[in-house]
Amino acid sequence: MNILLIEDEQRIADFVCAGFREQNFVVEHCLDGNDGYTRASQGAYDVIVLDIMLPGRDGLSILKGLRQIGNATPVILLTARNELGDRIDGLNLGADDYLAKPFFVEELIARIHAMLRRISGERQNVLAVGNLKLDRITREVAWAGQSVDLTGREFNLIEYLMRSPGRVFTRTQILEHVWGYDFDPSTNVVDVCIQRIRKKISSLDKGELEASPIESVRGVGYRFHKPGEGA
Ligand code: CA
Repeated sequence: MNILLIEDEQRIADFVCAGFREQNFVVEHCLDGNDGYTRASQGAYDVIVLDIMLPGRDGLSILKGLRQIGNATPVILLTARNELGDRIDGLNLGADDYLAKPFFVEELIARIHAMLRRISGERQNVLAVGNLKLDRITREVAWAGQSVDLTGREFNLIEYLMRSPGRVFTRTQILEHVWGYDFDPSTNVVDVCIQRIRKKISSLDKGELEASPIESVRGVGYRFHKPGEGA
């Protein structure tokens, strides 16, 4: 699960990030509203946890902006005790839930699970592109009907690329989303992980089907092959 946390109080961010990582959530954190909006509008997150009072751009404006561009990522607002008006505005603007400060991180995590369960009834949990099929709930992956045994990291990587077929992601973007913390950008963990996924898939189809669903884009990064486009 990829979460974007937009929260300017470092102390709150620290305990939230620690709680999320204990749950094996991948969390990206930003302290500023402008930066937060940019990341929220460009990234592929499962959930955005959004503070209201932020430097740069406030949370309600970020939420409004995201919904206006058609970004439907579930949003939980973090509100101060006396911001009842803001909570109502937030729900009207398309927030999925809110939590008043102070809160326990366990409650935030429980709210996220409840919210995703609610939404999962409405949202597609099976991604299928070309020969690859991926179930985000059971975490099963199949290539042309045959089960592919991926590690958690490999699953998260292929899911990240597969959500935007044809879009090129840099190694740094993949590193940030799948590994979730600052790695040395010169590390080759992304390439190694992609090689492992390709090997697992190619061992199943013995060259009979199309090439690997993950394409290298020279000098840039990787993308998930979009059926109908040349390899
Ligand atoms: Ca704040």
